[in-house]
Amino acid sequence: MSREDTPYFIGAHVSASGGVENAPLNAHKLNANAFALFTKNQRRWEAKPLTDKSIHLFKERCELLGFSPEQILPHDSYLINLGHPDAIALDKSRHAFIDEMQRCGQLGLCYLNFHPGSHLREISEGESLQRVANSINMALNVTQGVKAVIETTAGQGSNLGYSFEQIAEIIESVEDKSRIGVCIDTCHIFAAGYPLQTFDLCQATFDEFEKTVGFNFLSGMHLNDSKVALGARVDRHHSLGQGEIGLDVFRFIMKDARFRGIPLILETIDDTLWADEIQLLRQFSVQ
Ligand SMILES: [Zn+2]
Ligand SMILES: [Zn+2]
Repeated sequence: MSREDTPYFIGAHVSASGGVENAPLNAHKLNANAFALFTKNQRRWEAKPLTDKSIHLFKERCELLGFSPEQILPHDSYLINLGHPDAIALDKSRHAFIDEMQRCGQLGLCYLNFHPGSHLREISEGESLQRVANSINMALNVTQGVKAVIETTAGQGSNLGYSFEQIAEIIESVEDKSRIGVCIDTCHIFAAGYPLQTFDLCQATFDEFEKTVGFNFLSGMHLNDSKVALGARVDRHHSLGQGEIGLDVFRFIMKDARFRGIPLILETIDDTLWADEIQLLRQFSVQ
């Protein structure tokens, strides 16, 4: 099936509080056909293993509500830094990342979305990027079936992944190219300096992505407007159409078949607007 024949999968990063099995219910309430979730508390290192009951209910509800694995984009913990300059801290992050990959596998999911890492101004960008790639290789070697999906970042602080070239550099060093993907966050790339305010600018930015990374790696999107200006290098999401980017990029995405068949996830700041934002995006796709 080509991407032209697949639907748009649109949703939001929903709460999994009370258990992962609640995430599909929360997504269904928004009339979404995609969602993102954390499979554990994203601000803590430790997590209880998923119970058999949780796993069973999660799978049952996803099936009942029409969420296949390709429509779900789990996100890893914010604490993990796969490019960490310190050997002990790097090891801790690698173990936590493998645990997250395994949790996704237990839930029958096929993606794990993560931020590449930070050099913390202690090692060079290149050295840190190499550590990220090595971390991914290690994780892919000991897990099965789950694709590691690198997210583009705003480049805040010493965060890596703020240019398509850096994403390409990581992918270049990943041994199993069939299990590496990319998630473009519209807010992040805009804050990192890629313009998206008009159709022409979107065309140019996504051409640049095609040339540098390739749409064959695109496995998900985060759809967010930005509170900060182009190139400001800080990560501040806004509701669609209320920030510095405006609505054209979302119209563009909903008209371009390259964005079909992958989870398109809102991480906008006002969750009371999510159902409306999802509906708006659907309208753009049929207009
Ligand atoms: Zn994001
Ligand atoms: Zn962000």
